[in-house]
Amino acid sequence: MAARDGEGLRYAVFLAGCPMRCVYCHNPDTWDMANGIEYTPEELCNKIIRFKPYFKAGKGGVTFSGGEPLLQAEELLQLIELLQNHQIDCCIDTSGSVALSDTVKDVLLKSNSILLDLKFPTEESYQQYARGKLSSVIKTLEYLIANNKKVTIRTVIVPELNDNDASILEYAAILKPYKNKIHQWELLGFHTMGFMKYEALSLNNPLANKSSLPNSRLTELQRTANTVLHKL
Ligand code: SF4
Repeated sequence: MAARDGEGLRYAVFLAGCPMRCVYCHNPDTWDMANGIEYTPEELCNKIIRFKPYFKAGKGGVTFSGGEPLLQAEELLQLIELLQNHQIDCCIDTSGSVALSDTVKDVLLKSNSILLDLKFPTEESYQQYARGKLSSVIKTLEYLIANNKKVTIRTVIVPELNDNDASILEYAAILKPYKNKIHQWELLGFHTMGFMKYEALSLNNPLANKSSLPNSRLTELQRTANTVLHKL
């Protein structure tokens, strides 16, 4: 269950496999697709629909996260269609790192809403800190906007990496052309809850010396982000 990954109370499905390696990732256990548990779309749908009374009460639904859920676009499309037959709201939480194949586009079009990461403000920083591409995120964003999808942009704020006004300005400049079309730009605070997973998996944790971002700082930066984006 998740309360912060989309509207209302959500059933979060973490799909295994991710092409990126974000330095702040708190789900390194999802990187390798072989670590997942296999379900058919029908099996997973049957598990999820048992929670329908909770979704109804809280205006929630299902959020597909990961890992990168769009790596399994074909199966995901089948599952979304099954869930929507039961009137269950479906949200995709994506890094925007997967090429827009016809099936990926279909998944995005079928979803009720999308959480799209804007992780870093330049191609260089995307490569350095996430092994990803900013251009791929922008392509995904433009596709979503062209199709009038409800998109929330999310940015993780890490102490001494991007927790400053200059970084917020850089992100805002990227979002400026789209600011009237995106539903929300939400900042998320870096936290250390995933550190145990790095230890358990014997993985190098590049931010092992960092502390969680204080909530008060996150609130300040969110205020700055809202103001700056509004004024641009
Ligand atoms: S895209 Fe998500 S799951 Fe993949 S490395 Fe980044 S934070 Fe982790």
